[in-house]
Amino acid sequence: MPFVSEKVKNLPPYLFASFQRKKKELEADGVDVIDLGIGAPDLPAPSFVVDRLAEEAEHAANQRYSTYSGCAEFREAVAHFYKQQYDVDVDPDTEVLALIGSKEGIANLMQAVIDPGDTVLVPDPGYPAYRTAVHLAGGVSAPLPLDDTNGYVPLYEQIGQELMNRAKMMLLNYPGNPTAATADFDTFLEAIAKAAEHNMLLVHDAAYDMITFNGYEAPSVLQVPNAKEHAVELGSLSKSFNMTGWRIGYAVGNAEVINALATLKSNIDTSQFLPIQKAAATALRSDLSAVKEHSSVYQARMEKLYSGFHDLGIHADKPNGTIFLWAQVPDGYSSMEFADKLLHEAGVIVTPGHAFGSRGEGYFRVALTVGEERLDEVIARLKKLDIKEGSHP
Ligand SMILES: *Cc1c(COP(=O)(O)O)cnc(C)c1O
Repeated sequence: MPFVSEKVKNLPPYLFASFQRKKKELEADGVDVIDLGIGAPDLPAPSFVVDRLAEEAEHAANQRYSTYSGCAEFREAVAHFYKQQYDVDVDPDTEVLALIGSKEGIANLMQAVIDPGDTVLVPDPGYPAYRTAVHLAGGVSAPLPLDDTNGYVPLYEQIGQELMNRAKMMLLNYPGNPTAATADFDTFLEAIAKAAEHNMLLVHDAAYDMITFNGYEAPSVLQVPNAKEHAVELGSLSKSFNMTGWRIGYAVGNAEVINALATLKSNIDTSQFLPIQKAAATALRSDLSAVKEHSSVYQARMEKLYSGFHDLGIHADKPNGTIFLWAQVPDGYSSMEFADKLLHEAGVIVTPGHAFGSRGEGYFRVALTVGEERLDEVIARLKKLDIKEGSHP
């Protein structure tokens, strides 16, 4: 590959791609594959948001470049959302930036903050895009160990002082992908204290901040006093409003970092299409009842799968948020072996835990992105498998 950079050549293989290839092969053989692999909502965006997009797309003025940091209406709507949801004041001009989805934000934030050789603490298990973003920026990822014995909040005492001092950034994600773990305010209080003590930037990915249930409401890291001195929070409409393809999110917090990211992005993308920003502003200013409806859909699916798994002897912690169930692989299999077995013997795609870091081994992630009837079918198919025995070669 004479034209491909070392950076790209050295990217870890994209595991979802190999499962999608196998899915196509099985479907060609007539198998009815149920895909619980990729975390993409199956339901549509709210119609009032789609209507605003259609309306704004008609106006010629909206077909021009947006301002680099996103239009004022969008940034003000983000500030409004932070006030309503978290009672946090943010300046829409200096502390808010529109993103083309939070994945874009993660990748470019890394370029804006990390120099080659800098160390970044990355949750393990965690969202794989963190590690690749660090790699693309020439940084070095160090695992931030998370463990189910303490609800997947950071185990700082397992990280040496030297590493804590060396790290320039620490990433967190609650409610979390893949573990569905949630954090309380004290988790963020401690994280900000660590960021201050060790002079790190704390980046909190809040992609599932609004998808919560069982009475739980997710805090914002910016609720911690003085958080803006040490932290940036990333939000997205992708999961909460079923808007993955729209590519709209935001970064909020430390003005210096927001400015650095805006400067970088002004050289790369010139922000998102204005009608998308304006429709997203309408979503963020809404009463959020659409998001609550979406959350209750996920909750019902989660309860169904959770009890089905329970009957099968598959253990999972019952989550209070996200669109995932994170379950233990039965004894006798690696996570990859178990995911392969489910695909080939039941036509069900799940994601093996090791795809999210070495501490994900022993688990698998199920995305709750199909209807309840399909989840009944998943349970029915798993019941026919001999999984408790760990009966593999
Ligand atoms: C889905 C997801 C994202 C990406 O969201 P976009 O805004 O669509 O880019 C970011 N972080 C986590 C943890 C996710 O699961």
